[in-house]
Amino acid sequence: MSQIDPRRGIPRTDALLTLPAVLEARTRLGDHVVRGLVHDAQERARRGELDPGQVEFSLLEHLSKRSGTRLRPVLNATGVVVHTNLGRAPLSAAAVEALAAASGYVDVELDLATGARSKRGVAARAALLAACPAAEDALVVNNGAAALVLATTALAAGREVVVSRGELIEIGAGFRLPDLIASTGARLREVGTTNRTHLRDYAEALGPQTGCILKVHPSNFAVHGFTAAVDVRELRALATEHGVPLVADLGSGLLTPDPLLPDEPDAATTLHDGADVITASGDKLLGGPQAGLALGRAEAITRLARHPLARAVRADKLTLAALEATVAGAAPPVTRALHADPDQLRARAERLAAGAGAGATVIPHDGRVGGGGAPGVPLPGWAVRLPEAAAAVLRTGDPAVLPRVHDGACLLDLRCIPPDDDARLLAAVRAALDRIR
Ligand SMILES: *Cc1c(COP(=O)(O)O)cnc(C)c1O
Repeated sequence: MSQIDPRRGIPRTDALLTLPAVLEARTRLGDHVVRGLVHDAQERARRGELDPGQVEFSLLEHLSKRSGTRLRPVLNATGVVVHTNLGRAPLSAAAVEALAAASGYVDVELDLATGARSKRGVAARAALLAACPAAEDALVVNNGAAALVLATTALAAGREVVVSRGELIEIGAGFRLPDLIASTGARLREVGTTNRTHLRDYAEALGPQTGCILKVHPSNFAVHGFTAAVDVRELRALATEHGVPLVADLGSGLLTPDPLLPDEPDAATTLHDGADVITASGDKLLGGPQAGLALGRAEAITRLARHPLARAVRADKLTLAALEATVAGAAPPVTRALHADPDQLRARAERLAAGAGAGATVIPHDGRVGGGGAPGVPLPGWAVRLPEAAAAVLRTGDPAVLPRVHDGACLLDLRCIPPDDDARLLAAVRAALDRIR
């Protein structure tokens, strides 16, 4: 009868909203968000889940954890370096610093010495040309698909794009090369067959209706067996003979060869081999922000830059800043993860397993390039094996950890986790194992 009403003692909204820490949070997060969190804390107390005396403390804790975005940082323990669902490439420290520097007013299109307007993105362009001297000019756009659309539109709208049937790929997330090209107003002229295309197939298709020859790197699959393809060097001679531009879509964004990935084409080699334009992504193996690169001969890149569509796919100042810092700076996280030393990975995995205690073992595990790059190329390393039930707890924990679930087990590959995060990962693993025991 004399049960205490749980609602008694719950702090009132105005009292909570005027606490100094809450006032500060209101200027940072906005009133709407803060009021929502106040309401949540009061509701939990009304439902009896929270002691009324703990409402203020709980609210302050939630506010301190809450950032301006609902996106949650994730420790990538999958061993997949360019993980599309985790936003592809994590940025380097230099790129993050550049993002912050560019976040206010910046001279992205202004010459401070003269006060006159300048060309947009000259610093990113200069960094790209320094890193890839084989290119005479460079243009940065929104993403790899935009670079390819712009190239085929500027060079071949109303005419034909000649491409091998073996290269009419789907990259994922709705990127189908034939559809994309059809959307540009250019006509697709398919040559050869799925498994074999010869130089004569291209030669027979070329004529006054040709806008450009397109060579696409089929980045996410490999064809084995009775196959034939024509490389850029052979296509160069044909392109010169017919006076048509040669475009190569590389996808991955390697600027120079990586000995670890011998089958992955790079910008420098492809331009030396004779492509007029290469297109690529900024956030795959280049390890930078989402961006599309077009590198190549000055005359061709100028045609892209001057096309009206260029304005619709132009990169923002944050992209330009982060890309410049990535290209000019030290090896980004993607490169480091790709080249991680297996012995060090094993030592870290063993420390993690030992700290986690019973239920954790270390097994050999191959990482992957991911992001539709270097299909079938294993990256030999190690993983900590936990019971499968740990996976869901790790994903929803703090920090969130994404493991690989495979063969009825939860696997943690440390390749893509900076060693500085090992202690946080261990704490998360211990908490997860405690929860499922
Ligand atoms: C990834 C990829 C693209 C698309 O690039 P986005 O940056 O994802 O738009 C285009 N072509 C190839 C060969 C690719 O691998």
